[in-house]
Amino acid sequence: MSWLEELAAELPAERLSNRAADLDAASHDESSLAAVRPAAVAWPLSTEEVSRIVDVAARHRLPLTARGAGSSLEGNPIPLGGGLVVDFSRMTRVIEVRAADLAVRVEPGVVYETLNRSLRPHGLFFPPSPGGSADVATVGGMLANDASGIYSVKYGGTRDSVLAATVVVGDGRTLRLGSDCRKTSSGYHLIGLIVGSEGTLGLVTEVTLRLRGIPAARRQIALVFETERRAADAIAAMMAYGVDLAAVEFLDRRTIAALDRFGGYGLEERPTLFLETHGSESGAEEAARAALEICADHGAREVRLASGQSPWAVRHHATRSIQARHPGAAVARTDLAVPISRLPDVVEESYRRGDEAGLSLYVFGHAGLGILHVLILESPASAERWRAALAAKDAILRFVLGVGGSVSGEHGLGLGNRRYAALEHGGALALMKQIKSVFDPHGILNPGKIWE
Ligand SMILES: Cc1cc2nc3c(=O)[nH]c(=O)nc-3n(C[C@H](O)[C@H](O)[C@H](O)COP(=O)(O)OP(=O)(O)OC[C@H]3O[C@@H](n4cnc5c(N)ncnc54)[C@H](O)[C@@H]3O)c2cc1C
Repeated sequence: MSWLEELAAELPAERLSNRAADLDAASHDESSLAAVRPAAVAWPLSTEEVSRIVDVAARHRLPLTARGAGSSLEGNPIPLGGGLVVDFSRMTRVIEVRAADLAVRVEPGVVYETLNRSLRPHGLFFPPSPGGSADVATVGGMLANDASGIYSVKYGGTRDSVLAATVVVGDGRTLRLGSDCRKTSSGYHLIGLIVGSEGTLGLVTEVTLRLRGIPAARRQIALVFETERRAADAIAAMMAYGVDLAAVEFLDRRTIAALDRFGGYGLEERPTLFLETHGSESGAEEAARAALEICADHGAREVRLASGQSPWAVRHHATRSIQARHPGAAVARTDLAVPISRLPDVVEESYRRGDEAGLSLYVFGHAGLGILHVLILESPASAERWRAALAAKDAILRFVLGVGGSVSGEHGLGLGNRRYAALEHGGALALMKQIKSVFDPHGILNPGKIWE
């Protein structure tokens, strides 16, 4: 029997497809990278079904690429090797809220915002909050990319919230990794390897997440600065002083201009910081006061957003508003990470490279974490302009690595960043490859990702 016939014997017809429309939908993510069609798509509903799928794939050496919502930005779920896409979007159950343990057990296809809506009555939340994709990103995709977001400054990235997971590895074995305990010292931290592995080590079929209490009070602040450098310096100073900030988002004046044109928010066209503090009434207020003082020392002025708008409702549209300003353009993007003190240098270096080549370059991001998105938009129709965009991106990333940074703070290496894997990790890359072969001896799980 062919692998497709074997799978057809395992899954009902409505959950296995090789129709063109389904193959196209599973062929791309939200990046500008070329789409690749798989041969088929399966929608499992349980760990047992996933295990049977992997078993068939292992025997036929069939490439398997997991998919959540396909909202990645570096080609992570593009099925480079063809084969089968395992789409988790129908495994959406919130299995058990364990409020007393500050934990929840979920299936991987549940969407970030949907999960948080269901946690609200318990006074709990799952913090990472990926800025522009919170309404689509699935827990499985967030875990596999180690996604982060506006609240990761205070609560960490997805990695800091994953306690345990059920994982089907590349030879079909089902393993329970991690533990329900907040902390253990028991054996290798295998769950830590799965987080951020982009579906190359195992397929995650259930996750136990650590939750936090919804803060009693929060204070949101919008500030404008004279220059990007001063804003970046203010962030570094607030972090150095240990101000208890829940969110620190930086938007350069170009991003603000794009947002204003997109949404008519009445924003001042200046480098802007959106901040949020969490705690008791007095705690949130005290942290906000400390942040305002430090920012004022850097020449900042607090501004009110028109009609009481939340900064995050505006921030949500950052990527879309920039893309809307350049119809037909492709995006050369980075989601670089740097030690916080180097933030101002990276902002300046990015502008220098962009201005030198006359590129449309925007900078924004979870700057309190040291994560910056540099977006360069150019028409791929002009080979020369597109080459210049890629050259600027490359120069910026090499600069970042030179100051102790990383080429990916949250989107992963996927396809778009995989050429930097050896440069960033050196000899450790060989160890990563060995680890991959232990989890995935036949090399069938999301082949071609993370490294070239
Ligand atoms: C406008 C916009 C804004 C964004 N903002 C942010 C942001 O602020 N922060 C951030 O971190 N990201 C951001 N992203 C990127 C993206 O939304 C996140 O990486 C998200 O976590 C991906 O989730 P997904 O469900 O779409 O996963 P997919 O894109 O479908 O898959 C992501 C990776 O996970 C693997 N995978 C999926 N499900 C499983 C599973 N069950 N088991 C094993 N592997 C699996 C896939 O193979 C792939 O490698 C943004 C994207 C967009 C379009």
